[in-house]
Amino acid sequence: MAAVQQSDAPLASTTDEKPISNIVIVIAMQTGGTTLLSINFELIEDPNSPFPEGVPWVRYHGKFKGLNLNLIWPGKDPSSGVDSVGTISSALVTYAAIQSFKPDLIINAGTAGGFKARGASVGDIFIASDCAFHDRRIPIPVFDLYGVGSRKAFETPNLVKELNLKVAKLSTGDSLDMTPQDESSITANDATVKDMEGAAVAYVADLLKVPAIFVKAVTDIIDGDKPTAEEFLQNLAAVTSALDLAVEQVINFIDGKCISEL
Ligand code: SAH
Repeated sequence: MAAVQQSDAPLASTTDEKPISNIVIVIAMQTGGTTLLSINFELIEDPNSPFPEGVPWVRYHGKFKGLNLNLIWPGKDPSSGVDSVGTISSALVTYAAIQSFKPDLIINAGTAGGFKARGASVGDIFIASDCAFHDRRIPIPVFDLYGVGSRKAFETPNLVKELNLKVAKLSTGDSLDMTPQDESSITANDATVKDMEGAAVAYVADLLKVPAIFVKAVTDIIDGDKPTAEEFLQNLAAVTSALDLAVEQVINFIDGKCISEL
C-alpha cells in the first residue's frame, strides 16, 4: 500500500515536470492546413495508421526537435467527398488519437468565424480560454448545462504572452451559418469566436484527462455584412497560412518545455 502511494505522488509531478514529448494536432480541413503543416514539419503520412480499417482518418507524423508530432485529419467524408468537418468526426479522431498516441498535449487548430463587436478581425489568431456548445439546447434543469458543455482550455499564460496571441472564448456548433437561437446562445457563452469542432475536442480531452489548447484563425466576420460562406472561402487560403505559421510558433514555443511552463 505504502509503496503504491509513494510511487504515485512523485509520478504525477514528474509527468508535469518532464518536457512535453508527444503532441496530437487535430485539424478539420485539409485545405492548406494538412499539406502546409505536414510539409513545414516534414511529417509523413502513415500508410498503416492504427485507426480502424476503412475510416478516412489520416495521420501525418514525424519528429520535430524534441517532439513527436501527430497531425490528425478526419479526412474526406466517404459519401460526399468533402472534408469531415464538425463535432462528430473531430470527437472520434480525438478519441482514437489519444488512445493510440497517448499525447501529453492536444492542439486543435482550425479556422473560425469572429465577432467584430468583440474585437475580432479576419486573420486574427485566437487561443481559446473556454469552449462551449451553442446548438445543444436541452431546456431541462442541469441538462441545459450539460448541453452547453462549457469547458476550460488548458491555460497557457506564457505562450500567449510570448507569441502575443489574443485570448477569448470559443463557441462550437455543427453549422457554418447562425440561427437567431444560436446567436443568443453564443452571446450567453460570451464567445468571440465560433467554430464547428473546438468544444467537441475539449469534451474528449477532458474525459481522457489530456490537456488541450485551441488555436483558431478568423476566416470570416459573423456580425459583418458579407455572407459567411462567401467570406470564408475568400479568406480561407490566406488565413490558413497565418494559422499554419501560428501553429509552428506554438510548437516551437512548446519544444523543450513542460506542461506547467506553458
Ligand atoms: N471545407 C468547406 C467548409 C468548411 S465548414 C468548404 O471549403 O467549403 C467551416 C470550417 O471552418 C469548420 O471546420 C469550422 O470549424 C470553421 N469555421 C470557419 N468559420 C466559421 C463560422 N463562421 N462558423 C462556424 N465554423 C466556422
